[in-house]
Amino acid sequence: MLKSMTIDGKEISFQEGETILQVARDNGIYIPSLCYHRKTGPASRCRVCLVDIEGTRGLQTSCSVSAQDGMVVRTNTAEIVEAQKAFINLLLANGCHNCLACEANGVCELQSAAYHLGIEVPSFYIDTPKEELDESGEMIRRDPNKCIHCGRCIDACNNVVVHEVLGFANRGADVKVICDHDLPMGSSKCVQCGECSQLCPVGAIIDKKAIGRGRPWELEKHNSTCPYCGVGCQVTLHVNRAENRIVKVTGREVPPNDGMLCVKGRYAYEFPSSPNRLTQPMIKKNGKHVPVSWDEALDYTADRIKTIIDRDGPDVFSAFGSGRVPNETNYAIAKFTRAVVKTNNVDHCART
Ligand code: SF4
Ligand code: SF4
Ligand code: SF4
Repeated sequence: MLKSMTIDGKEISFQEGETILQVARDNGIYIPSLCYHRKTGPASRCRVCLVDIEGTRGLQTSCSVSAQDGMVVRTNTAEIVEAQKAFINLLLANGCHNCLACEANGVCELQSAAYHLGIEVPSFYIDTPKEELDESGEMIRRDPNKCIHCGRCIDACNNVVVHEVLGFANRGADVKVICDHDLPMGSSKCVQCGECSQLCPVGAIIDKKAIGRGRPWELEKHNSTCPYCGVGCQVTLHVNRAENRIVKVTGREVPPNDGMLCVKGRYAYEFPSSPNRLTQPMIKKNGKHVPVSWDEALDYTADRIKTIIDRDGPDVFSAFGSGRVPNETNYAIAKFTRAVVKTNNVDHCART
């Protein structure tokens, strides 16, 4: 049922069950927040998404309070801004946040919050020892110096993709994100699906292959369908137009994958620009593959199939369909094999 509330003097309708943060976001009102993501849910860890609710004592985290009919909410009082600045300043001071060299520069939610609050340099200096990068994952770099301990990666790994690799270790100032029982990522049971990388709000989990290949705002974004299997996961290709190559792939938060991808869909994207890619038909002549026209290739193949079937019967023929071609093509392969060649020897890579 549609209900109504007021945020910063604006009357807004909402669906029962939505939180204040969701209602604000859906209506273009920016409340800084770091630990909340729609897929991982409210965590109330970062304490940044504070709002003032009329009739309630103290400031509340908007990610964890349900919107109520008739509620009056303010997002930008002096008290809220002061508290948010304190939290963001502490996060910036704790670790090593050099935005100039960071791959997340331009898409970092900590940077956005600092910009929104007008923080140019952190108000505090905390002498935290520099921690080593974890480069052991084949596709992913972990940088604990940029981690703000929001827990999104942990919730994503355990509750969204359910690989159950990540967790928090220690308490207080020593808290850290670990893989399994504090193993390097490459030795843990991580399958490099990259869900943690996609949901990390800062530059603490980075796709290795995209490092140095272009700033987020320089890359063209093209929506597409993953070419690897029949699930048809929806992806965004991040393209460096000057080099004419894909430099990163992210999952789109739409059906059927809701942002999730497997290691192939997310990281095996070099083949379109590979110099070894076949771009035209070839026939082996005198022991060497030579490029030929489509007409020549099709006539040659048809002749060879016919000659072999006439000589040995249809059951010496078999066809193998592919998850990387459309349904219609696989249908044609099955039809051709059964109706034209007249054998049932037809299969598909999805069964392997
Ligand atoms: S994680 Fe964000 S705030 Fe930290 S250095 Fe990178 S862009 Fe800057
Ligand atoms: S890459 Fe996937 S499996 Fe590995 S830690 Fe991240 S979410 Fe978990
Ligand atoms: S690695 Fe990223 S997502 Fe995980 S706790 Fe740190 S900042 Fe949050």
